[in-house]
Amino acid sequence: MIPFSPPRIDQKVIDEVTAALKSGWITTGPRTKQFEKMISAYCGHESTLCVNSGSSGLELMLRWFGVGEGDEVIVPAYTYSATANVVVHCGAKPIFVDSGTDFNIDTKKIRQAITPATKVVIPVDLAGFPCDYVEINKCVRDNVIRKMFTPKTQEQEMLGRILVLSDAAHSIGARYQGKKTGTLTDISVFSFHAVKNMTTAEGGAVCLNLPEPFNNEEVYKYLCIKSLHGQTKDALAKTKAGNWQYDVIEAGYKYNMTDIQAAMGIVELQRYDKDMLVRRKQIFDLYSQGFANKDWAILPPYETAEKTSSYHVYLLRIKRIDEVQRNSIISRIFDRQVSVNVHFIPLPMLSYYKNAGYTIDDYPVSYENFSHVITLPVYYDLNDKQVQTVISTVIESVEEVL
Ligand SMILES: *Cc1c(COP(=O)(O)O)cnc(C)c1O
Repeated sequence: MIPFSPPRIDQKVIDEVTAALKSGWITTGPRTKQFEKMISAYCGHESTLCVNSGSSGLELMLRWFGVGEGDEVIVPAYTYSATANVVVHCGAKPIFVDSGTDFNIDTKKIRQAITPATKVVIPVDLAGFPCDYVEINKCVRDNVIRKMFTPKTQEQEMLGRILVLSDAAHSIGARYQGKKTGTLTDISVFSFHAVKNMTTAEGGAVCLNLPEPFNNEEVYKYLCIKSLHGQTKDALAKTKAGNWQYDVIEAGYKYNMTDIQAAMGIVELQRYDKDMLVRRKQIFDLYSQGFANKDWAILPPYETAEKTSSYHVYLLRIKRIDEVQRNSIISRIFDRQVSVNVHFIPLPMLSYYKNAGYTIDDYPVSYENFSHVITLPVYYDLNDKQVQTVISTVIESVEEVL
């Protein structure tokens, strides 16, 4: 069986994790701080806070911005549930916007979804392909949209407009107009979950790129407190001689990353551009070559004049089929010992959101994308021979059903 997305664990990762375990410091400490600095240097934004998951990072930033009861947050209908669940946790309402044919949120439809209750937009770089950030950033800065904005907290007052909080769970290392994700919006959040491009088993990073008058380093220092029980000193600071006193300034969260996790991330980030992204791009290119002459194949966009993907997952669409035929193709692929997937079931089709009153009929492009898509495996250890097996297996399975 060709698996779908095993993590890349080699001796280097094992050695660094072992070094962390033997160091005497396993929770948030020197390795986490080093990993944060490496992420800021890699992407080019000012400050990074590492957390225990991408979801925690998104929720922390919604709470930092004061999102709550009565507020609306715009999210794509086509994403993983985490993007919208964190909005629900805060007591606010997710407002779904349909996607475009590139799988990303349709920027033209964002504007129509904005109301005086809108506080945040959460675009998702689906499959690692960056959204149209020039348009999104322009939209929230538009005078008419700004006038509609009704700030309720000091942070909202300071920003004076809708916050763009990018769900960059898939897109570390992707570029838009020459700039890396992390620098493209006010705040971006990466995920280091086991199936993501870069993994710490579980983990995430909040990239702070807030405009004036915010001081990103100060926001970072406050978030260190907010993500650790509201406690004014972390465990490491408290172990310094005579440094036992601390205060709790708010009922904060428990979202910190451990040094064991950071150890994995440090190794991976050091070689991410050199080999991880190189290999992923090769696999994407092989898939695109493999299906290029099939008139039933819709190949995903992953490199354009303005955008370069992080090559997270390969979203192949099959023309002229319905959802039932797509499912039949998938089961034929599995019967031939190849693992594939579907990214994602649009949120309005899932029970919780359906029961909350959303319907997929309102998001036709999301449904169109979903019902035709098959996600093909992309990971570092997938070799060329396996890629060719995936391609021939998909072709046989599709052509049986068409
Ligand atoms: C994985 C993922 C997340 C959540 O990341 P975790 O680290 O698992 O919390 C958020 N959004 C999208 C689109 C994802 O794929």
